[in-house]
Amino acid sequence: MSRLRTGRLSVIDIQDVTKTHLKGQTEVHALRGVTCSINCGEFHFILGPSGSGKSSLLYLIGALDEPTSGEIIFEGRKLTSLSNAERDAYRRDDVGFIFQSFNLLNNLDAVDNTLVPYLPQGISSERRGQAVAMLQQVGLGDRLDHRPHQLSGGEQQRIAIARALLKQPKLVLADEPTGELDSETGAEVFSLLRKLCADCKTTVVVVTHDHSFVESTDRILRMKDGRLQQPDSWK
Ligand code: ADP
Ligand code: MG
Repeated sequence: MSRLRTGRLSVIDIQDVTKTHLKGQTEVHALRGVTCSINCGEFHFILGPSGSGKSSLLYLIGALDEPTSGEIIFEGRKLTSLSNAERDAYRRDDVGFIFQSFNLLNNLDAVDNTLVPYLPQGISSERRGQAVAMLQQVGLGDRLDHRPHQLSGGEQQRIAIARALLKQPKLVLADEPTGELDSETGAEVFSLLRKLCADCKTTVVVVTHDHSFVESTDRILRMKDGRLQQPDSWK
């Protein structure tokens, strides 16, 4: 963690990051030099039109991808200098991911879907109990043995939230988490995410092109054409 000029603590520092994707022979400049911090315990939105580089930035923060240049620093350590095992541990232990498409496994029930990040190391009965408690917290206590196809979109996303928060991550990263939900269900999912993360003082970064869930205390990072808009144009 480092202390910013504002006196706040940052959990992630993003320093002049670029990301160039290759589409066949064509270079796509998704990020053209992004510098910012993700502050401890705050709720961040990355806003901007489709194609502006929001998901690219989120995936770099989550070490699901590597920058073309620049650095992402987590608690003082460059993600690019971590060993493969350390990067796996970062993704497994420190980051909870929530995706637009929920990313649940169809053959597993709600409890086992919540436990997926722990499958490689084996599941203790204590951990299973924690998963059940987490599902009860997201309001799915009566859906424990249901599989994804037996659940609504909002219920599926609540399993994904339970899965992301079960490990008590330092950072929750969500990419268009309400993109496949109607607006009422989306609002419910957001208020649940806010409540759970506020209770645990978790740092949250949500990517969306939809401004309607933004609240006045949120931190807004506004992207356009692979660049962050200047702070004076942040909400
Ligand atoms: P957003 O999430 O704001 O819609 P993205 O970060 O997904 O934006 O994409 C930014 C640009 O990078 C877009 O032009 C997109 O087509 C391109 N892009 C993203 N991912 C890839 C990829 N894996 N391969 C090639 N181009 C990509
Ligand atoms: Mg995107």
